[in-house]
This record gives sequence, structure tokens and C-alpha cells, in this order.
Amino acid sequence: MPVLRVLGGGREVGRSAYLLIEKERGILLDYGVNFEEEDHPQFPLHVRPIDLAGVVISHAHLDHIGAAPILYITGRQPIYVTRPTLDIAKLLINDFLKISGFYIDYDIAEFENLVSHAVLVEYGNEYEVEGYVILASSAGHILGSMLTYIDTPSGHRILYTGDVNTINTWTLSSAELWPKKIDTLIIESTYGSRKHPPRYLVEKNLVNSVEEVISSGGTVLIPAFSVARSQEIISLIQTELPHVEVYIDGMSRDITEIYMRHRKLLRDPSLFEKVVENTYFVRGWSDRRKIWRKPCVIVASAGMLKGGPSLYYLKKLGGSSRNAIYLVSYQAPNTPGHKLLEGGKLEELGISELKARLQWFDLSSHAGKDGLLSIVNRYKSSLRNVVIVHGEEDSAVELASMVKNLIDEDINVYIPSNSDEIVLE
Ligand SMILES: [Zn+2]
Ligand SMILES: [Zn+2]
Repeated sequence: MPVLRVLGGGREVGRSAYLLIEKERGILLDYGVNFEEEDHPQFPLHVRPIDLAGVVISHAHLDHIGAAPILYITGRQPIYVTRPTLDIAKLLINDFLKISGFYIDYDIAEFENLVSHAVLVEYGNEYEVEGYVILASSAGHILGSMLTYIDTPSGHRILYTGDVNTINTWTLSSAELWPKKIDTLIIESTYGSRKHPPRYLVEKNLVNSVEEVISSGGTVLIPAFSVARSQEIISLIQTELPHVEVYIDGMSRDITEIYMRHRKLLRDPSLFEKVVENTYFVRGWSDRRKIWRKPCVIVASAGMLKGGPSLYYLKKLGGSSRNAIYLVSYQAPNTPGHKLLEGGKLEELGISELKARLQWFDLSSHAGKDGLLSIVNRYKSSLRNVVIVHGEEDSAVELASMVKNLIDEDINVYIPSNSDEIVLE
């Protein structure tokens, strides 16, 4: 019987790392990092590369891939990953090394070593390693993200969701759930206790709010996560408000270029082409110093105002009530974005009172609790184990109780902690 060892991501969002073992060697599902309050990276529990038949990386976010290069200091096992995941991860890991290098046990050479062992996954193709069969489909979360179906050598059937979104967005179609029989579901629970408001309402609200500011001569700053959220926002604004000038800056701009290169994987490649054609890419300080002086929308990283050009624009725009700051990304406690929402000021940036309009919009790229439950429902006829990971305790517990309500039969629902081991029956 296969065993699942939780190396990270147990009762926490992030640091995903799950080791699936049957016989001697196993498959590692993600190997990510977390950030504690002081923003120092925390790594998952150790695993010896020699004990791995292969590694699967669900997507490019650091909480799924940030620790994986450690395995390639000495390791040579194949790593199953999509091309866009590698392209995006390269930027994110470079940035991670620049900011936190002092705390990280690898360098860019180990990432390059990882890349040289990559088996580039295409959705729908099967890959076999030491008796494990791996198959992936789109998870709808960010470009290149995948749901992973694994059959173990003894025939136990597993689905690992990674991070998943079950609604269509501007850039991606919802997760592609294949009609297969599944014995064990390993599911994320970031929003296991939360229902997102309907996306079209949130978007309408954001569009109207942007329009109000622009039509009265103001400028709108939208700090956004560089991956997925920025591309969503430019697509939304360009389509609904074609007369508005849209600028994109920082890492958001670089990731948009990667999205453009892989546009075939997007929901509507020709729409995205048009969006990018009509978006102004900020190339440097001479652009940056000019654009905020006129009515326009500026989409810039970082989404939680932890750095990047969004800080510069915030300082320039925050002092006038004509302007607006619209936050569209999750704001973790203790981040500047969170502090600004709570207190309307940001002393460390010299903003003692924000005069610009400030509002937060829920545009998550994670499924809400109804979406997560729909995944369980899809496979309920064959499910025997549901393992709830990648969520705070409250979220995971609520999802667990909903899963038990949905499936009356005897089914094992686990909310493992890190270092727990589950025998999958
Ligand atoms: Zn994640
Ligand atoms: Zn993610």
C-alpha cells in the first residue's frame, strides 16, 4: 500500500511537499517554501534525492517549487513540469535569491541543474517512471499549472490538485477534471471555509470604480501579483474600458511577456494578443516618472506592496483624493498592503494619511469552498481517502466536515500535520 508523508503544507498555506512512496522509491509532489513573519524563508522537511523516482511540480509559485533546487545539488531524478512553469519559476527564483539569498541553501546553478533534468509535461500525455504513471491536466490557477493524476505501481489512483481554480477567468479556463476513477484525492484548502462573491460582480464593481476615477481626471494604481493577477487585470480593463490607457510595470511586465510566449495555452489567445498590443510596457525611469501624471491605469508588482515599482507609484499618487489605489490580490497579515487597508497609512513609506481612494477586490485564483467541494463530488463514487492540505487549520477543518457530509459512506478524511504519515488504503 502506498504511504503519503507530509513534508510541508500540513495545516499551513504554502511549503507544499508531499512524498508518495510505494516500494523503495517515491514520487515527490512539489517542494516549496513558506515565509515567516519576518519574511525569512522556511523549508520543508528533508528528503534524500536517492529515495526519489521522480519529482512533480504543480506550478511556478515559490510555495510549490522554491525548495526544489536543493534536490538538484546532488540529485539526478527526472522532474515533471510544464515549460511555462520553468520559465516563470526562473524569474521568481532569481528574485527570491536576490532578496533572501542569505537564507537559501542553493544558487541559480542548482536551478539550472533542475532544468536539465526536466521532463516537459504536455497536458494529456502519460509519463512512466519506475512503475508510477503520471498524467496532468490544466489546474486553471496560473499559466502552466497542473492537476496531477498518478497511478502507483500497485494500481492505487491518486489526484493531487496543487493549487486549483474551478471558474473561468480572462486568461485561463477552469480546471480540467478528467473522468477517471480516483482512490485518493490530495486537495488544497486555501479557501476551504470561504465562498468568493460571483466573479462578474466583483469585476463590474472594479470596472465602474476605475471609470469614476479616470473620468474625473484621476489616476488608478492597481498593485497586483505579477503572475496571473496582472494579466487578468489588463485583460479586464482593456476589454471593458478600451478608451483607458493601461500601463504595466515591474515583474508584472516580465511575466506578461512569458504569458504572451505561451498564449496558445490561454483561454483566448487572440484576445490576449490584442490586450498586450494595446498595453504600454514601462521600460524604465524616464517612462515611470511621466505616466502617473495623467489619467490612466497602472498595473504594477508587488501585489502586497512589499516592493517593486508599485511602491513608487503609491508615493506619487497616494496624496491626492482624485486618485485611487485598488488592491486586487490577497493581503497577508503584516504586509504593507494589509497595514494600509487596516489603518489608511504607511508610516514606513512616509504616508501618514492616504488621501487617494482605497479599496480591495476579491479576484482570487483559488477555488472557493463550493469549487473545492465540486472536485470532491466529481470523484465521490470511487474515493476512499481525502487528504486536505495547503490551508490554515480553520479552512481545512471546515472543508473536511463538508466532505464528510457530502459522502456518507466510510471514507477517510485526513488533515495531516507536517511529518505525519498516512497509509493509503
Ligand atoms: Zn500554493
Ligand atoms: Zn499557487
